[in-house]
Amino acid sequence: MSKREFSSDLMYRLLVQGVKDYAIYLLGEDGTVLNWNAGAERAKGYTAEEIVGRNYACFYSQEDQARGVPKHNLDVALCKGHFATEGWRFRKDGSAFWASVALDAIHDEKGRLLGFAKVTRDLSEQREATRRFEHQAIHDSMTGLLNRVGLGECLDRRLARIDAEAGLALHVIDLNRFKPINDTFGHKSGDEALRQVARRLEAMAGPSGIVGRLGGDEFAVLQSGAPSVEAVEVMARAIVDCVALPLQIGSTLATVGASVGVAIAPRDGADAATLLRNADLAVQAAKSTGRNRALLFDRAMGELALSRNLLELKLRHAVAARDFRLAYQPVVDGRSGRALGFEALLRWDDQTGRSVSPASFIPLAEELGLMPELGEWVLQRACRTAANWPDDLVVAVNLSPAQLKQEGLADLVASILGETGLPARRLELEITETALLGDLDSARRVLSRLRDLGVGIALDDFGTGFSSLSLARELPLTRIKIDRSFVADIDETHPGNAIVDSILALCRGYGLAATAEGVETEHQRAALIAAGCHDLQGYLFGRPAPIESWRSILHSARVVAEA
Ligand code: C2E
Ligand code: CA
Ligand code: CA
Repeated sequence: MSKREFSSDLMYRLLVQGVKDYAIYLLGEDGTVLNWNAGAERAKGYTAEEIVGRNYACFYSQEDQARGVPKHNLDVALCKGHFATEGWRFRKDGSAFWASVALDAIHDEKGRLLGFAKVTRDLSEQREATRRFEHQAIHDSMTGLLNRVGLGECLDRRLARIDAEAGLALHVIDLNRFKPINDTFGHKSGDEALRQVARRLEAMAGPSGIVGRLGGDEFAVLQSGAPSVEAVEVMARAIVDCVALPLQIGSTLATVGASVGVAIAPRDGADAATLLRNADLAVQAAKSTGRNRALLFDRAMGELALSRNLLELKLRHAVAARDFRLAYQPVVDGRSGRALGFEALLRWDDQTGRSVSPASFIPLAEELGLMPELGEWVLQRACRTAANWPDDLVVAVNLSPAQLKQEGLADLVASILGETGLPARRLELEITETALLGDLDSARRVLSRLRDLGVGIALDDFGTGFSSLSLARELPLTRIKIDRSFVADIDETHPGNAIVDSILALCRGYGLAATAEGVETEHQRAALIAAGCHDLQGYLFGRPAPIESWRSILHSARVVAEA
């Protein structure tokens, strides 16, 4: 052996033996392992003594061996001179790793097959990193659910098989009162709330359902397997119900609730983008008709979205032109029928003469930043009107969340009282729990200043929001208005209502007055009186109407139940 041959042979051997990241070895014609380097030992766990002489098929899974894959791969390498693949291979201890494999046929100078050179690289880490990356790209890290991209891909895959599967339903879920949780309890608690909702939806959707988070407080559930319209409705309702249960945020129970919009494929769209857009329209429509509702998409909703822009325009005009009126609804002593006062309720008749519900246009006005201006008009109007009533009648005016955040609210109220001559004790401002959330301290300050003026403060719709009873203690309130949903629960078969009873006990404890809203039947009246709630409001005593129609009451100060 010449010096040059010797050194190149040695160098070659050193190179191959020294490589640790690659398993490099030779196989005989039949796949018998002929030699073994350090990289091979490291990758596969066998020492040279243990493996040289054995067939390389032992690196493959039992199934691959049974299917003849090791032999097949050698045949390909033989035919084409080269074979490369990625796949699972097995170590001595039985553990699997993801390998990149290259097989090259080696021939002598005469073209006779000597065997195969094999290079294997363990790509498990890279594969795991890629997998993690891919996972992150389509998942929401906070809830572990699919994100919008992931859900869209999944949807498209399912839609491509729609003939076989014949239909699926996409439920888009929008939480109703999530922002206040974030604002009040902080982002950590907000995240926790979202995770709880995620787990509930997963449990609801079951193992075959797919759940995603579209972003913010918006989720989606994919219901596949050609569900009937009835099955879709049942699922949508079940989603609303499962999200409506209170969430545990630290030591507090908070209720968020959800609106659900559903689009059914292929009827409402054959691709993910269309289906998502239509389910979104349905959820918007569901939200605009009240909380905790589910709606199936229909074509008219597309037009509705257009009409929202129109509504926005009309509302801006109406506010600029003060094109509103107030309706008044009496609050009575349910025992005697004597009027105690009236609640002023905003009314807007659009150009077509249709009366638009305040429940739909006040949130919009709030969103558009029109509420301080509109609210000021209501206050002024209501105080001016009430100044002409008998001296014992109170006027209740609703304040929107935006008004409560207004810096000079107490000054504004003081100047309106001065202007209209209405004594402060005859004005009661109604606020909702939602309006208090956000900055509780500043709300407390504003309310204290209002109380100092002598104005009453009522907590409206009590029991529907956070129901955090501590609010009632911490804030300078004078009255609680029991939400009409609890009153509606009172009927012939349920004469008492435990929630009403406990709210009344709370009011007695804190020295607060209580009004029950939404009293519609004589039965409810009697039950509330029996429970000790005397201040009542509802259709039984009168619907909201222009003040002129209450002239007789204003004279006799007595309301006769309409029965
Ligand atoms: P709210 O303050 O809870 O007002 C009571 C609502 O219940 C009124 O609806 C009233 O018409 C309705 N109602 C009264 N009695 C009964 C009953 O026996 N049965 C049933 N089913 N409903 C009854 P309306 O007038 O549509 O007002 C809806 C909401 O809009 C109000 O709820 C209030 O939150 C808001 N709102 C109304 N006017 C104003 C306002 O001037 N400013 C602000 N910020 N919000 C207002
Ligand atoms: Ca009210
Ligand atoms: Ca209310």
